[in-house]
Amino acid sequence: MGNGARNGIKTVGLAPNLSSGFYGQDIISVRQFTRENLQYIFAIADEMRAVVKRVGSTDLLKGHVLACVFYEPSTRTSSSFIAAMSRLGGSVIPINEVRYSSVTKGESLPDTIRTLESYADVIVLRHPEVGASQVAAEYARKPIINAGDGVGEHPTQALLDLYTIQSELGTVDGLHVAMVGDLRYGRTVHSLARLLCQYDVQMTFVSPEVLRMPLDVLNEVKAHKRDVEETYDVHDVIASADVLYVTRVQRERFADQAQYDSVKDFYVITSELMGQAKERMIVMHPLPRVSEISYAIDNDPRAAYFRQMENGMYIRMALLAAVLGKA
Ligand code: ASP
Repeated sequence: MGNGARNGIKTVGLAPNLSSGFYGQDIISVRQFTRENLQYIFAIADEMRAVVKRVGSTDLLKGHVLACVFYEPSTRTSSSFIAAMSRLGGSVIPINEVRYSSVTKGESLPDTIRTLESYADVIVLRHPEVGASQVAAEYARKPIINAGDGVGEHPTQALLDLYTIQSELGTVDGLHVAMVGDLRYGRTVHSLARLLCQYDVQMTFVSPEVLRMPLDVLNEVKAHKRDVEETYDVHDVIASADVLYVTRVQRERFADQAQYDSVKDFYVITSELMGQAKERMIVMHPLPRVSEISYAIDNDPRAAYFRQMENGMYIRMALLAAVLGKA
């Protein structure tokens, strides 16, 4: 396992820190990022936004091919990667429904990856198993971008989340970020909490007992000496939060339907609750929303989740350009 050889660009083993640059590298975990290279990606994302607003597209990645392989459902991640590649002038092999690919015939992940990398220059992978992207990266010669590995990580989501916080509030340092909902199974909060360790933030994890943040993430935050608290009561954070990051209860991860039913409506962010929030704060959500944010909030200027979603395309344009050496 793990041939790893790739014109001297990709290295064998765990995905490396990206301080030596993005060209040819896998994006597997937020642990690979530093504050410096985050700012580098955000600056490219700003440029991508300007290009899209001005002319819609460029031919920066003309002639390049992206394979988008999704073993789990997706709306935003898959379509924003496809839109990102299209707006950069490249093409996409979209495998959004592996049921219709040879996976149904019993093909293994490494064989599927080896196949696609003979046609494409970069592969975006979503898979239900934690660590699947890392395994794929060990077999692949081309860069793998993790688009969600089960309850593990969702690094590109965390990047767009951080980019949103910075664009909306002008800074990340000094903020109080409250993460609310399914912190146990929600991969986006696992990645975001880890990424925020690089900043001087106060974090509060708000969840029912059965959906608490996994211990390894909690310990990582503590190891970075960040100010972190846990509570089940959203009223404890509503008045002081600068960022209220709300998540869906991940129904598909529950073995026990009764347990899901007992927590599925634990939090609903209502206009009444928002009445107690700061005037300058934002509500975020990785989406899809089920019932955890009332539709009445959508028109509140503090509701940032649709702007957050749009940012995903600019961040993914920036990442594709960086990984393919064109940023
Ligand atoms: N879309 C996000 C994810 O894939 C959040 C969610 O599904 O709740 O993790």
